[in-house]
Amino acid sequence: MGFNVLESRQIDDDYHMFESLNFPKGHPARDMYDTFTTEEGYILPAHTSTMQNRALKMYGPPPIAVVLPGRCFRNEATDAGHEHTFHQIEGIYVDKNISLGNMQATIKTFLEAYLKKELEVKVQPAYFPFTEPDCEFVISCPFCNKAGCSTCGHSGWIEIMGCGMIHPNVLREGGIDPEEYSGFAWGFGVDRLTMIKLGINDIRYIRESNLNFLKQF
Ligand SMILES: [Zn+2]
Repeated sequence: MGFNVLESRQIDDDYHMFESLNFPKGHPARDMYDTFTTEEGYILPAHTSTMQNRALKMYGPPPIAVVLPGRCFRNEATDAGHEHTFHQIEGIYVDKNISLGNMQATIKTFLEAYLKKELEVKVQPAYFPFTEPDCEFVISCPFCNKAGCSTCGHSGWIEIMGCGMIHPNVLREGGIDPEEYSGFAWGFGVDRLTMIKLGINDIRYIRESNLNFLKQF
């Protein structure tokens, strides 16, 4: 689909984790992310959105199409669905006259190719400071075709990623004029998508280095 690839950093700073993404100092949404910090004040990225500002500056002026894979870290208790270390792929697309329709078509095309299945998709409201509007991308369950199963919590649908139109403040901070250009961004968990595709029921298996598990793939 013509996207450039730029890998994220494993140690970053407050500006790229928060400020460049429209989280001013003291913004309550900072509490949504349980970040690890070093004694020197650096931050271990809690999402690959840390790379949005750099990508806008590096690849601008638009059209800009970049995916940003990387390792993420959150200071949280681990269980079958949560790990302190995981992987995300962020994507951004910026050009003239870009809408939510372009976003849905792009993400749907990728997911259908990856899961090798035709999917029904929908977006539902969410909240992120760096997009407006903010959405959660939802797909029809690829295992039960909406009949309900344990993977989809018997709802028939799976929430697969956060996404939305890039907030004008984030574009402006990246040197892009939001009056002239618009764009969308998304971020999904590589581990989670792999688990859905391969039927893995505990995210902790992925980092455990258990050869009996790894040899299956
Ligand atoms: Zn299902």
